[in-house]
Amino acid sequence: MSCIHKFRWPNIACQAYDQAVTGQDEEVEVPVLVVGGSLVGLSTAMFLAQHGVKSLVVERHSGTAIHPRAGHFNLRTLEILRSAGLEETIRRRSAEQYPPGGGISNVESLAGREIAMFFADLNAGVAEFSPTIRLFINQDALEPILRARAAELGAELRYRTECTALEQDDDGVTAALTDLETGGQVRVRARYVVAADGNRSPARNRLGIPMRGHGVLSNSITIYFRAERDLTPLLAGRNQGVHYVTNPVLRGFFRLDRSGNGGFLVVNLVGDTARPEIVAAYPEAPWANVAEGITKERALELLRAAIGVPGMPLVIEDIATWQAVADIAGRYAEGRIFLAGDAVHVVPPNGGFGGNTGVHDAHNLAWKLALVLKGTAGPGLLATYDAERRPVGEFTVEQSYARYVLRVAPYLGTSDVRPPVDDLYLELGYRYDSPAIIGSPAAIDGELPHLHPSDCQGQPGFRAPHLVIRSRGEQVSILDLFGRDFALLAGPRGGAWQDAARAAAFALGVELSTYVADDGSGGFEDAGEPFCTAYGISPQGAVLVRPDGFVAWRATDGTGATVEAMKSVFSRVLCRADA
Ligand SMILES: Cc1cc2nc3c(=O)[nH]c(=O)nc-3n(C[C@H](O)[C@H](O)[C@H](O)COP(=O)(O)OP(=O)(O)OC[C@H]3O[C@@H](n4cnc5c(N)ncnc54)[C@H](O)[C@@H]3O)c2cc1C
Repeated sequence: MSCIHKFRWPNIACQAYDQAVTGQDEEVEVPVLVVGGSLVGLSTAMFLAQHGVKSLVVERHSGTAIHPRAGHFNLRTLEILRSAGLEETIRRRSAEQYPPGGGISNVESLAGREIAMFFADLNAGVAEFSPTIRLFINQDALEPILRARAAELGAELRYRTECTALEQDDDGVTAALTDLETGGQVRVRARYVVAADGNRSPARNRLGIPMRGHGVLSNSITIYFRAERDLTPLLAGRNQGVHYVTNPVLRGFFRLDRSGNGGFLVVNLVGDTARPEIVAAYPEAPWANVAEGITKERALELLRAAIGVPGMPLVIEDIATWQAVADIAGRYAEGRIFLAGDAVHVVPPNGGFGGNTGVHDAHNLAWKLALVLKGTAGPGLLATYDAERRPVGEFTVEQSYARYVLRVAPYLGTSDVRPPVDDLYLELGYRYDSPAIIGSPAAIDGELPHLHPSDCQGQPGFRAPHLVIRSRGEQVSILDLFGRDFALLAGPRGGAWQDAARAAAFALGVELSTYVADDGSGGFEDAGEPFCTAYGISPQGAVLVRPDGFVAWRATDGTGATVEAMKSVFSRVLCRADA
């Protein structure tokens, strides 16, 4: 029988792990093992740590991302990162890389005609819905910020370490890890595993979980480059950000950084796919395989055609090849192993939803793992991860596919394209329907409704709406009250719900913060009427908001405000045996 070290965080963990990997001991034990230390793995570790759960993150690369990849981060992601205390740092770093309020346009070339303007300013019209903003920050700049915060909160990170096997039983998961520097092996015993191991997800493959959807759309490339002169004058006043390029040589997009003379060009398609006779003549779509045999010379040709200025001196710094895919996993979990990020949904980058959706997965899962590990919630709460996140993933895959077809590859036809909706529906208007929500609105035609944030109105299953309030004399967002514990927000005459909820939470050991609008007690002032309107309740009503900022339950008035009623609410939402 092997020796098991229980990690006593944070001091003992490294030592126990390092002893084990050097062969002095055979097995170490952690509450949660996170496989993959990129955008979603790091986010998972950080959110778990916020809830007091220590995790071990293993990543086979030697550090965080080396390529910019994701750059567009949306409102919900920024709200989540704000609750992790990172908004200011991220906004500062973003401003170093990109001018604020970037735009998204479609041009023949940077120097050529504008074909369409998708967003003149990313943040036009969003201020009423969120306390934060959409921004651009490159993934290779964001990941070190997440890594530092996760480590600061107590997560353990191991680079050049590969997970080579996962075996689960009724009590936990045993993972085999290899130190890629030394070849040393260690077994880790975890209560749960989160595999954020990317689109090829070895964990998903081992579990035999299939992917389905539109499949591979193109073998694309990203060309990282520097120009010897500033390209921004070519933008003719268009905001820097993303510039789609549509011309007879290629289709793809630029992301130019603040310097104006560098960034990257993604090329998805080559050749004139706008000509129906060409498309008809080559059903095998050779234009969708720019990656095969790509050389620096060919990349330079494509870059010149996309910039549209002959003879401009350019340096190709790197070329990455990757596949544009629009697929979703059949399941997001198997027993004690949960999958998150690109491991369960792979989307073309059009719309910038891939990484964002992965961060939202991690945020949904972390508090559930924490409460189940603490024994406050029943294991059934973990099943709600798939129930809540997979429909969101499906919708996001379809919306990303629609943007890919409409912006880049119209030759694919529109027969299987869902009508695109405003980004706000995807960022702030998705809805959860699971046992962890009481009274979620019914699905329409088998699909969960995504709403515009102005229509969510505090209904159970939707993100709790943003509202500016005064708290302790300062103007803050109501969203700043959420993050770690459950929050009970009552209307100005909803004190009975507050009393009932406090007593019920105490009896069940649930961590709860409570606030009554307009009660002058310093928690939540001067907002009685706007709060009731925004959350769809009368002054006697109340809402219960989960640690992830989603409305779990709502009483529109004061009927039935008893301790027993609130105990039942907590028990149901937490999937407890006493529900
Ligand atoms: C050109 C481009 C532009 C994009 N733009 C955007 C954008 O603007 N906005 C957006 O939201 N998204 C964007 N994306 C998508 C975004 O980059 C991905 O969705 C995101 O990287 C997914 O993160 P992840 O952590 O799930 O997976 P990955 O980033 O793929 O990370 C998985 C990690 O797991 C590690 N790993 C795998 N197996 C093991 C193992 N067995 N043991 C240890 N480690 C392992 C890998 O080494 C890797 O580091 C873009 C993508 C591309 C290609």
